[in-house]
Amino acid sequence: MNVNLKVKRFDPSEPTKNTWWQEYQIDIHKDSTVLDALIHVREYEDTSLALRCACRASICGSCGMKVNGSAKLVCKTRVAEVSPGGEQVVIEPMGNHPVVKDLVVSLDTFFNQIKRIEPYVQPDHIPEKGEYIASNESMENLLTAMNCIMCGCCVSDCTVLEVDDNFIGPAALAKAWRFVDDPRDSKRENRLNNLNNEDGGIWDCTRCMQCVEVCPKGVDPMDRIMDLRDSAISNGLTNSFGARHANSVNKSIKHSGRIDEFRLPIESKGYFNIKEIFKLLIPGLRMLIKKQSPSPFHHKNPNQSKVKNIFKNFEENK
Ligand code: SF4
Ligand code: SF4
Repeated sequence: MNVNLKVKRFDPSEPTKNTWWQEYQIDIHKDSTVLDALIHVREYEDTSLALRCACRASICGSCGMKVNGSAKLVCKTRVAEVSPGGEQVVIEPMGNHPVVKDLVVSLDTFFNQIKRIEPYVQPDHIPEKGEYIASNESMENLLTAMNCIMCGCCVSDCTVLEVDDNFIGPAALAKAWRFVDDPRDSKRENRLNNLNNEDGGIWDCTRCMQCVEVCPKGVDPMDRIMDLRDSAISNGLTNSFGARHANSVNKSIKHSGRIDEFRLPIESKGYFNIKEIFKLLIPGLRMLIKKQSPSPFHHKNPNQSKVKNIFKNFEENK
């Protein structure tokens, strides 16, 4: 099949034009992956094209790139999938990672995020004899998180990392869950406490689902972040902005079937400060005038009894 690849190039040694787009028209087998196509370019069309790959079997995690705008392992992505009608295939380096050359990114930022969560089991004792055995059942909950191959695709497309490089990020937080819920680890409470209070911790995720969409191994990082939030709250860690915000939303929906936008900022703050309330008042009034905010008079939802039943069922079955 014939395919047109549009590749984002970057050469740090070029003093003037160091970023540019380059197109390659190539003829490849219909079952080729995007990685096969790029290797074809490097072998037969342009030996200067830099890319990284190793296992070619979606195990090593080294060939993460953006294809048509979203991160993918290119060894797992067939050209026919991303160009079903012969459309141009646009390939860029992963986002939220510094680019080294062309499609190769530095994973330093990624591994610095992983280091922040102390990614190793910290038991409180060493067994006198043999290994520290954990039952199969106690580890089943960790299987999804343990599938991570550290490819960086979730970090590439995380919408929070685009604007806040202090966020620990989806891959590191999914890994944090792997240690928080490991029965051999003795630092569960410390870990939860840090992730709950830390700037850039579990409450900074906006639940955009992007990491779930792009993860090639089904780790579902956002769901692991929600597991961490649940664990933090169940462990009594309710005194953070995020936990107070979640509790306020929960309370007002349970009470009236709606979010009480008036109470939410005050309850999330955790204290009543007239100066800060005044600061919120002006943007709040502007939103009201432009009809971007619901009425301050907290009307009950006409389906409130249904909402109450959902809460009741959930509480009875949890
Ligand atoms: S769900 Fe959270 S962690 Fe995942 S990409 Fe969105 S903001 Fe980032
Ligand atoms: S969580 Fe998924 S996307 Fe993120 S690094 Fe691990 S395998 Fe890659």
